[in-house]
Amino acid sequence: MMPRPLVRDGVFFYYGRSNYPKRRHSKTRGAKRRTHYTVTAMASVACKNCSAPTLPHRACTTCGYYKGRQVVVVRQDAE
Ligand SMILES: [Zn+2]
Repeated sequence: MMPRPLVRDGVFFYYGRSNYPKRRHSKTRGAKRRTHYTVTAMASVACKNCSAPTLPHRACTTCGYYKGRQVVVVRQDAE
């Protein structure tokens, strides 16, 4: 079980652990670190067979076609 942290002036102290922060850092510093915590939309292309949106370089999940031929049999009962 994790030891209960002691909070003093906004600084967390974890006794019994080798690493704990010496000083608190500012809200701005945390926010600046979290500017990289972004999600980007995955690229999608329209299937040449059925024009459903699908991932590039992958068989179409709707019709199972890739490079103009059927490579995967897509189950129709998968709901
Ligand atoms: Zn397709």
